[in-house]
Amino acid sequence: MGYYDATNLVAEACIVLIKFLGSGDAFGSGGRLNTCFLVNRGNARFLIDCGASAMISIRRFGVDPNNIDAIVLSHLHADHFGGLPFFILDAQLVSRRARPLMIAGPMGFGARLDALMEAHFPGSTKVERKFSIELIELPPEVPIDIGMTGMCVTGYVVVHPSGTPSLSLRIECDGKIIAYTGDTEWVDALIEAGRNADLLIAEAYWYERKVRFHLDYTTLRQKLPLIGAKRLILTHMSPDMLGRVNELRDCEAADDGLEVEIA
Ligand SMILES: [Zn+2]
Ligand SMILES: [Zn+2]
Repeated sequence: MGYYDATNLVAEACIVLIKFLGSGDAFGSGGRLNTCFLVNRGNARFLIDCGASAMISIRRFGVDPNNIDAIVLSHLHADHFGGLPFFILDAQLVSRRARPLMIAGPMGFGARLDALMEAHFPGSTKVERKFSIELIELPPEVPIDIGMTGMCVTGYVVVHPSGTPSLSLRIECDGKIIAYTGDTEWVDALIEAGRNADLLIAEAYWYERKVRFHLDYTTLRQKLPLIGAKRLILTHMSPDMLGRVNELRDCEAADDGLEVEIA
């Protein structure tokens, strides 16, 4: 495990490490795990999205879930937030968490989280836990500091129906910008969310096929000059897209376990 390993170690100040714990779509294309990215900055670690397979990712890559300070959610589809009941119950019953956990997500996600918990594990919202959970609902286009994690998150509403507003996320920490499209068809809000980002993580579900509510690589590539991101990594790829990653230009494709450093 090297010094820059994002899994558990403390990152050197001003270096932000990102590990793709899950880079898949909702349906396991390519055998990939659901969306879950670990960001490690200095003394704080947080997850971007917590898809249904998040605990499998966390165990597979040897991440200590008690080291995760916060979770930020793009939208409330199971491949992006369905891992929360498992994460919370693991914290309570297995990992024996004693530290607060912050979870930030779209407006209205608190009620959806309760419903999800009760659907998965009836009675689980009523038990007393040894750690507190602080829910932070993100009003659109308002920068919100996430507790002591040193990150500031701004959500932009995108076009992807999920019961509450789906968000693209712009995350600032240590002077670096990480932007994440979430799932969405092209919408100009992605320009603001990703503007001059040090790293843009973008859904590229199809290579060139246009479908509602999802983004394709060809459209994204046309729009890149408007966004001005310094680095682009594609995720959430369909079998079609996965079969064409060797055709990509000026960007990279995520894989489960991929680790990148923003210095
Ligand atoms: Zn998805
Ligand atoms: Zn979705």
